[in-house]
Amino acid sequence: MFTTWSAWNCKRIKGQTFPWAKWVWNPAVPRKISMTMWKAMHECLPLDDRVRRIGILVVSSCDCCLVWVGEDVDHIFAKGGYTAEMWRRCSLVLGIPRLEGKPWKERVACWHRKASDSLFSGQLLGLLPSILIWRLWGRLCKARMEGVAEPAQSVWCSIRLWISWAALKIKEVKGLTQRDEDVLRCFKLPCPSTQEKVATTAKRNPLKEGWVKLNIDGCSLGNPGDAGARGIIRNSTGEFISGFAVTAITRIILQK
Ligand SMILES: [Zn+2]
Repeated sequence: MFTTWSAWNCKRIKGQTFPWAKWVWNPAVPRKISMTMWKAMHECLPLDDRVRRIGILVVSSCDCCLVWVGEDVDHIFAKGGYTAEMWRRCSLVLGIPRLEGKPWKERVACWHRKASDSLFSGQLLGLLPSILIWRLWGRLCKARMEGVAEPAQSVWCSIRLWISWAALKIKEVKGLTQRDEDVLRCFKLPCPSTQEKVATTAKRNPLKEGWVKLNIDGCSLGNPGDAGARGIIRNSTGEFISGFAVTAITRIILQK
């Protein structure tokens, strides 16, 4: 059908298309995040190395390392002290190779290549680089303009918060895979189970007189992640004797 829009679309000069554009301009992330990522992808962010490239000599020092390091885009977005830690954590949760020491664009391209519309975790793979870069840029600006150096844990909590925000707006998928559920748990997001619950009856075996029974249970949200355990001690007639609960333990659990 011929319309004003179709005529304009036919007449206008179209710009280059980028394979990553659908993830950068995805409706699941706010425009401020998309805009920062778009600028980063086009090397438009005002970093010291860019200023130097246009012929202005500046003394450059990053705000993320204790030792003096010049500020350039790869250091700020991939190799800097806490920056590398943020990539490491995200790679661990989503099962992506860490690509340590690689340029930041190479990392982002790897994430975007593995992103997919059909899976929940696949969509997160496409969106997470934008959230990460936006937050790292925000941290740098705050350190430079306000003299406030946010700790890595604070930046990570903020990234998780924005991931939760994006997860609510992510395109609906047919069903969650085990991988999706693991990712949801790692980011502490609500996880609707895909399996039907089957009611089972538990039978308690009576103890001999004078004996006591200890029942314990524990779990971990992520690996490493926040963990908790609890237990209860009862006598042979089933009466409560004592109990305990411990939380906020972070450990790496090794499995066979
Ligand atoms: Zn640094």
